[in-house]
Amino acid sequence: MQSSFLNIPNGHPFPLYNLPYGVFEHKGKTSIGVAIDDYVLNLTLLEEKGLLKVEALAGKKVFNQITLNAFLATGKPCWNAVRQFLMNLLDSNTSDLRDNAALQAELLIPQSEIVMKMPVHVGGYTDFYSSIEHATNIGKLFRDPVNPLLPNWRHIPVGYDGRASAIVVSGTKIKRPKGQLKIGDDAPICAPTRQFDTEIELGFIIGTGNDLGTPVSINAAADHVFGVVMLLDWSARDIQRWEYVPLGPFLGKNFGTTISPWVVTMEALQPFCVAGPEQNPKPLLYLEKQNINFDIDLHLQIKTSKMDAYQEISHTNYKYMYWDIAQQVAHHTVNGCNLQPGDILGTGTISGPTPDSYGSLIELTWNGANAIHLNSGEERVYLADNDSMQLVAMATKGDLCIGFGSAEATVLPAIDS
Ligand code: CA
Repeated sequence: MQSSFLNIPNGHPFPLYNLPYGVFEHKGKTSIGVAIDDYVLNLTLLEEKGLLKVEALAGKKVFNQITLNAFLATGKPCWNAVRQFLMNLLDSNTSDLRDNAALQAELLIPQSEIVMKMPVHVGGYTDFYSSIEHATNIGKLFRDPVNPLLPNWRHIPVGYDGRASAIVVSGTKIKRPKGQLKIGDDAPICAPTRQFDTEIELGFIIGTGNDLGTPVSINAAADHVFGVVMLLDWSARDIQRWEYVPLGPFLGKNFGTTISPWVVTMEALQPFCVAGPEQNPKPLLYLEKQNINFDIDLHLQIKTSKMDAYQEISHTNYKYMYWDIAQQVAHHTVNGCNLQPGDILGTGTISGPTPDSYGSLIELTWNGANAIHLNSGEERVYLADNDSMQLVAMATKGDLCIGFGSAEATVLPAIDS
């Protein structure tokens, strides 16, 4: 395997093989870069200097932007050509940057000096409900302990249109939402949520879109996807429970969704591809299984205002997901719906088979029956004001490991509580 002249230690989340893309601010200027070791390689400056020599781009400038959308629109052959160019530029056997200390000082910026921004402009956001473990748990808690899955669930990758404008980058604080709550037999009230939850998800970022009226076939679906971020789907369970019938989630969800700033490319994920669970009954032909699940470990952590360090409360894996990203893209577009560069497709809560791998507080506490005991001596059923949540992810295979960074946010008190 190629190695970088930066001598990156084993186990570092950003080895040469990873090269996740992000948008960052440094000394008041917004630029696009890839993470490598503890640095970001400034692609905006690389392109500006005429040093990004990638034939597939045909002279087109794509990194003189404040989001990745223009690069996403160039398509998979371009993404791969740029990746190959960058891997070669940073390779220990390539002298251009390795032996030019002045250029290195310009192009490689310590991550400690930058502030990460939203990586893409999100025009559309869809959240799926594709973990059979999660759908079963929620079905048991909300509806029917005996037949928790609705009749459509094994036939359709169920999803809903979410709120693109409420997606924010890691570090943005989230205010406790207010809304209608219906408690017991009392009349509904408007009050801050008492059941502030979050869900472990990944967000797939669409690279190339499709025209309105032109579905994406299941065989071509994966080629439309550029990469993956971590996603925390903040959820007000009491608002959700009262509002969700018959049209699904609305104000219980659209007050904020956190994503991690580094976009890990589909290309970097290829070594971690696994088959995923068997699907029974067999899906319709337009959803024919492509076996492109990924072995990605996800850890959810909490830190209250009384804690000095994060404490893990769940450890799950994306490989359990019943419906995969190709099936989600094919289903999303089967009616002719048009996906666009920068759209985000949330996987849905990623719950595993055991209670310590459940992907939300409502499942981890079994609807409040089992409080979570924290190192500080505190207990949590749902989130309190000033609690912080962090999601971290890593994919590992033999000596190869790639990280996703972190998606993190703190809960602020409601506006007038
Ligand atoms: Ca969700």
